[in-house]
Amino acid sequence: MENKLHGQVAIVTGAGSGIGAGCAREMAKAGATVVINYPTTAGSAMAADVVASIAANGGMAIAYQCDVSKEDQVMNMFADVIKQFGTVDILVNNAGLQKDAPFTEMTLEQWNFVLSVNLTGQFLCAREAIREFLRRGVNGKSKSAGKIICMSSVHEVIPWAGHANYAASKGGVHLLMKTIAQEYAPKKIRINSIAPGAIQTPINHDAWDTAAHLQNLLKLIPQKRIGQVEDIGKAAVWLASDDADYVNGTTLFVDGGMTLYPGFEDNG
Ligand code: NAD
Repeated sequence: MENKLHGQVAIVTGAGSGIGAGCAREMAKAGATVVINYPTTAGSAMAADVVASIAANGGMAIAYQCDVSKEDQVMNMFADVIKQFGTVDILVNNAGLQKDAPFTEMTLEQWNFVLSVNLTGQFLCAREAIREFLRRGVNGKSKSAGKIICMSSVHEVIPWAGHANYAASKGGVHLLMKTIAQEYAPKKIRINSIAPGAIQTPINHDAWDTAAHLQNLLKLIPQKRIGQVEDIGKAAVWLASDDADYVNGTTLFVDGGMTLYPGFEDNG
């Protein structure tokens, strides 16, 4: 692959598994130095595996523990990365989780937990990233002063019964992304979202763990295959590269057609 991100520093949150790890690997292949963020000591071995797999392919990565919902930890992560590598060029705001419940049984704790990681975490990381982009300005490594990719979901537009906290968090990401893209476009900062459909990761293990579950899931995907983390990682590299220099404030759906109302497929 061409070194489209050569010499750039990328922080990928929640990169010890799934889509975050996929984005980190693809960005490292494209020449970026990647910070593999993970939330707790329990995740350190998985993050170390991602670092090792990147190094084995000749890439450069470090692991960094930080809970993105905690302001002091996020500020420390950005300060430490800037101290070590000089700056941050790319943020992939990927960390996210689910705590599902029927709406009338959803506890305030479940609601707050999901919103604190999926939405407040994106706010805290984007704010630190933009502060650094504004401080540094355009530096010759890219046409932009900085790029942010927010990991949204098809559930920024598709309602999802039993997942009100998750759907609300992704709906929030949608307008957070658009608002800060509008606010900082004049400063040559580009901010976009990726909305994955069903990607085969630990978060949705129950949807693909048996042949029957997978068949059921494929009914929702016109392309009739479950997505892989590389599908998202490659889209993230493109969005972060100068090939996407005129792309700003938009959501790229990478979903095998999940948002094409698959229920209407055989109803023409
Ligand atoms: P995943 O569970 O493998 O990844 C989520 C990562 O976030 C984990 O590594 C976890 O440790 C990390 N994380 C959780 N809380 C954190 C915190 N407080 N601070 C830092 N990191 C934290 O699942 P995934 O599918 O790779 O999910 C990644 C993102 O993609 C999420 O935002 C999710 O909502 C989104 N997404 C996934 C799918 C899918 O089908 N897999 C679809 C749409 C959107």
